[in-house]
Amino acid sequence: MSDNSLRLVWVYPDLLSTYGDQGNALVVERRARQRGLDVQRVDVRSDQPIPTSGDIYLIGGGEDRPQRLAAERLRRDGGLNRAAENGAIIFSVCAGYQILGHEFINDLGEREPGLGLIDVISTRGEGDRCVGDVLADIDPRLGLPQLTGFENHQGVTHLGPTARPFARTVFGNGNGTGDGTEGAYNDTVFGTYMHGPVMARNPQIADLLLKLALDVNALPPTDDRWYEALRAERIAAASQPA
Ligand code: GLN
Repeated sequence: MSDNSLRLVWVYPDLLSTYGDQGNALVVERRARQRGLDVQRVDVRSDQPIPTSGDIYLIGGGEDRPQRLAAERLRRDGGLNRAAENGAIIFSVCAGYQILGHEFINDLGEREPGLGLIDVISTRGEGDRCVGDVLADIDPRLGLPQLTGFENHQGVTHLGPTARPFARTVFGNGNGTGDGTEGAYNDTVFGTYMHGPVMARNPQIADLLLKLALDVNALPPTDDRWYEALRAERIAAASQPA
């Protein structure tokens, strides 16, 4: 990060932004400005090169065909991998999460290579699609409150030895492997199945990314009453039978 200015990159809004995932960019941007940061937000369409000098990259979910197109273009571009090598912070949701892994099953039923930034592999679930509210306990090392989100995916994600589970489910499917894990992370690269959009329900995740970008342990407090009301409503919804 240079001076007080934060470069926030929203990757491929034209292909990957289902279920309000673009809200994550709005939340990070707002919470950074509330802390006095000068935010430069760059929305990168899939026909544009990925800048390699960003501080925080966000990548959302998508349907199966746009997901394949996004993976092809990101591999060809190479910018996100170079940014990760430079220590960038990357937060991905659902299709974006699968793309950051080693491989996933594409809309043609074939194994599609990912970017290999998180040590996971995604297969196609044999059972019902995982749809609904989720409640999960985030890895205590990250110091965050319970995770609330909404999932909608057919893919099932298996963690390799160097990936840490982002959270453990209390309610819902998460990675869908039956082992209770939800999402994964490697160092500063995060993946989750949570839409919602996840940062509107869990603004502390946006703060975690900001703390990593600023290399600080704490941020000035904000008025979070609106977020807390939404969190409470969605946590109650996740705990009740449909
Ligand atoms: N197409 C992927 C799946 O179904 C991702 C879906 C999504 O991003 N919501 O697993």
